[in-house]
Amino acid sequence: MSINVKHNVQCPKCGQMSDITVWNSITVRDSADLKEDLLRGRINIFRCPSCGQTGLMPTPLLYLDDDKKLIFSFSPCDDPAEAKKQYADIKNASKETGDLKKYDGYNLRFITDFNALLEKILIFDAGFNDKAVEVIKLMILSQDIEKSDQRTCRFGKYENGSLEFMIHDMIENQIYTSSVPAESYDAIWKSLRESGVKPYSFDWEAVDEAYAARLLNGFNN
Ligand SMILES: [Zn+2]
Repeated sequence: MSINVKHNVQCPKCGQMSDITVWNSITVRDSADLKEDLLRGRINIFRCPSCGQTGLMPTPLLYLDDDKKLIFSFSPCDDPAEAKKQYADIKNASKETGDLKKYDGYNLRFITDFNALLEKILIFDAGFNDKAVEVIKLMILSQDIEKSDQRTCRFGKYENGSLEFMIHDMIENQIYTSSVPAESYDAIWKSLRESGVKPYSFDWEAVDEAYAARLLNGFNN
């Protein structure tokens, strides 16, 4: 069930009060339109009617897609220590309640970055698994190893048999694109599966750059 709460918030820039509907949970089967709004940046983004200031609301969001067997627990946080604690908390809470048992075959993700949430929706919508995609992103960034720290790489779309990635260089302030043929994705995913990586979850998983680095260093899951 999709759930929202109305908040009256003050603009951090100009002080104007305004109402915003904040979503705590989105169930795609009931509300496909909300998913579209989320992808368009219209969900949980504050927009001041007076001065135009925008910002992400600091609200956790649960994204549930039963058709694709996905549950994303999004918890906005940019402090790595706090994110680690929240990740441990959600794992412990699920262990205690046993509520993950009914999600056999699902992919469960713990996400702290809003763009990563949108990216994961696009990855699974295109029929890919984010575990292989994160490995490919790391491979793309390591092609120019000296600049890898100043760059982020995101999956953009699947088109003409290729996965297209957007590479944002924060120092050069440039966006590059990089295309990877679907055959390369297939080969990487096959090799990860053969090394023991599971295409579904047994617990919450954080599948990000650090996860991909661990995989490339020989750890499974
Ligand atoms: Zn304002």
